[in-house]
Amino acid sequence: DPRIRRIASSIRVVPDFPKKGIMFQDITTLLLDPKAFKDTADLFVERYTGKGISVVAGVEARGFIFGPPIALAIGAKFIPLRKPRKLPGEVISENYVLEYGTDCLQMHVDAVQPGERALVVDDLIATGGTLCAAISLLERAGAEVVECACVIELPELKGREKLNGKPLYILMESH
Ligand code: 5GP
Repeated sequence: DPRIRRIASSIRVVPDFPKKGIMFQDITTLLLDPKAFKDTADLFVERYTGKGISVVAGVEARGFIFGPPIALAIGAKFIPLRKPRKLPGEVISENYVLEYGTDCLQMHVDAVQPGERALVVDDLIATGGTLCAAISLLERAGAEVVECACVIELPELKGREKLNGKPLYILMESH
């Protein structure tokens, strides 16, 4: 798809951020190009329209940028999956392992009903730990996770293998 090339070239790669040796994929520059941003949303919307998805769950923070336009276009609700102590209602939590230490995602328990079909959205999959935690939250609430969708995959980190066979759709790989 010719749209992918424009999206890819709009993403800035920042060496040694947030620490030495990391090539950070900066999607804020994609957001500065309205056509690239719209094309990104459109590619996901084209894939997920008519698939019976009633829930789009976005992972804090950049899943809050790409998830809502998809949810609005396909007529699904949007659920924020947040870092601890941000959500005011009753939550369920999933801890996950980072390179150094652990992190946690939380979801409002009453945000999803058993049997709902969910899509999980984030900007990027690296080790897969974040998406794995997101899938667990939705499944614990009784939802069926149909697919995970990211703009970028870092394939060397084999995060896909951590998703327990859940399909992952990406727009591009980065090396
Ligand atoms: P994982 O849990 O798969 O190792 O890491 C993915 C999470 O870290 C995502 O929420 C993503 O936003 C963030 N992340 C890790 N590396 C990058 C990067 O290079 N660029 C961006 N934009 N996010 C990153």
